Amino acid sequence: MRVLIVEDDPDLSRQLGEVLKDMGYAVDVANDGEEGHFLGDTEPYDAVVLDLGLPVIDGVSVLQKWRADGKTFPVLILTARDQWSEKVAGFDAGADDYLTKPFHTEELLARLRALLRRAAGHTTDTIEVGGLMVDNRAARAFVDGMPIKLTSHEFRLLSYLAMHRGRVISRTELVEHIYDQDFDRDSNTIEVFVGRLRRKIGTDRIETVRGLGYRLLDPAAENNKK
Ligand code: CA
Repeated sequence: MRVLIVEDDPDLSRQLGEVLKDMGYAVDVANDGEEGHFLGDTEPYDAVVLDLGLPVIDGVSVLQKWRADGKTFPVLILTARDQWSEKVAGFDAGADDYLTKPFHTEELLARLRALLRRAAGHTTDTIEVGGLMVDNRAARAFVDGMPIKLTSHEFRLLSYLAMHRGRVISRTELVEHIYDQDFDRDSNTIEVFVGRLRRKIGTDRIETVRGLGYRLLDPAAENNKK
C-alpha cells in the first residue's frame, strides 16, 4: 500500500516516513500544500496523512480540491491541539479521520490501518487465503503457521494482492501501489518479485492471468473447482 504524507515539520515528516516504510508501506512526502496537492492529484495513493497547517496552500483547501476532483482515497488529518473548529472544517472538506498533535506513532499507524482495511472492504488487519496469512499490523506473512522471510518490496506486493484477494491486479497497478515516487519504476521488476514470492509462499498461490495481471488465490479451493 502506498501512502502520502503532507507535513511541513521536517522532523515529523521524516520520522513518519521512516516508521511507515518500516511497516511495509511505500511512502511519498510533501512539505507544503501545493506539492501535496499535486502528488495526490497525479498519483494513486491508498491513503493520505494531511497536516492542516501548511505553507502555500492550507490543508483544508488541499482536501477540498481533491474531493472536488473526485479523489476518494482515505485522508487522515493532523490538527493542532484544542482547535475543534479545525477538525470540523477538515471533516466537512472530506476527511475520514483525525489525530491531534502531539500523537503517538502507534495510534497513527492503527488509524491508518483502519482506514486502509475499510477502504479495501476488510474488517481485520490479518488476511487469510488458504493457509497463507498476511498480517498487516506486524508486516509479516505466514504459510501454514510458519513465518516467511520477505523483503520489504515482496511484503508490499503480497500485502497488496492480499488486500485485493480474488481480483486480478495489473502490473501497472502493482507498480503504482508498491513503489514510492523516487523508485526507478519498471513493471518488469514486478515479474521478478512475483517469481521470488512464489518460491517463498508456494507456486500455485499467485495466478498469472495472461495479458491482465496477477491474482492471489487459495490453491485448495481452486483444485475443488476442477
Ligand atoms: Ca504544520
